[in-house]
Amino acid sequence: MNASNLQKKITYKERTISKVGMFNRKHKYLSFLGLAYAFLAIFSYNFVFYFYRNVKRFTCLACIILFFISSSSFSYPAMSLNISFDSDISHDVNVEDADVVISTEELAESDAELAKQVELDSFVLEETQEVVNPDVSEADHLNQENQVSLDDMLNAGIEDNSEIIIEDEQVALGTSDSSEISFSKNDWKIMLVNKQHPIPEDYEFHLGTISGSMKCDERIIQPLLDMMKAARKDGVALIVCSPYRDMDRQTMLFTNKVNKYMDAGMSYMDAYNLASQAVTVPGSSEHQVGLAIDIITEGYSSLDEGFANTAAGKWLAANSYKYGFILRYPAGKEEITSIEFEPWHFRYVGVDAAEVMAQNDMCLEEFWSNFVE
Ligand SMILES: [Zn+2]
Repeated sequence: MNASNLQKKITYKERTISKVGMFNRKHKYLSFLGLAYAFLAIFSYNFVFYFYRNVKRFTCLACIILFFISSSSFSYPAMSLNISFDSDISHDVNVEDADVVISTEELAESDAELAKQVELDSFVLEETQEVVNPDVSEADHLNQENQVSLDDMLNAGIEDNSEIIIEDEQVALGTSDSSEISFSKNDWKIMLVNKQHPIPEDYEFHLGTISGSMKCDERIIQPLLDMMKAARKDGVALIVCSPYRDMDRQTMLFTNKVNKYMDAGMSYMDAYNLASQAVTVPGSSEHQVGLAIDIITEGYSSLDEGFANTAAGKWLAANSYKYGFILRYPAGKEEITSIEFEPWHFRYVGVDAAEVMAQNDMCLEEFWSNFVE
């Protein structure tokens, strides 16, 4: 085979050169064209011939690559891996460093005693309304790790609603007859976002500003404020961090996590599967649709399971549903949510749905299979 191929190759090359030589002798002024043709023809011939000779090798390579792509993740992760996760975002969010944590003195005028206990601060409610597609990245949200407590919110002109809010609370607490409420799968509040249900590409929402660069779906700012005020009344300080994240930020968090596991010696596939239990896979995070917020508290700023034992963690677990928020990834439901227990991550679903889930001890996935038409 080699001998005959070699023969062909030389023949082709020689034939091309002699043809070009004749052409160049006839048209001297066009000799550069002949040379270019010769070069291209011989190069292409050798190029194709090279692949032809190595066809088995390249087929094997293609098969290996295909196998790797098809088997690397996108499958349901095994939950039995015995490794502890640290957090959704970087550990130890430092309260002192945050530029938006508001001093409690600003509250002193209204009630010094209350101000001492409570740490809900500032939502600067600028009425900025951006239409957001979560898949469109916004670079200015990157590298922001802020925290917001209630005083900021109260300073921004939301005080007037206080009395109305208290009435709303009573209404919310009073109504619990969920049996007659039906839920539509098209309701934005109960939108199911997880690995199996990524964010629809055409999903759009209005982004409202909580404070500075911290944003979320504008429709959940008022319920969030209501919840933070109610917590303050009970002497619990809630601090919001990391609400809306764009695709770039989510991707960065996820990639960092994968790299960390790979640095520890894991294969890419193992690292991906494990990372997907600790950080939501980009494109399927509720933070990207502005409906999820992470909450910490004064004196405990780590996003880890220990938050569940703080006053804030307990208060949220018991009361958040009254304001339409659910603990999205509860303990004991990891097999269903495929996300580890996250006592700090709260998702707005509306009061009706939150009450149904609280009454039936269901996570959002279970709620969908039982109540959503
Ligand atoms: Zn979160």
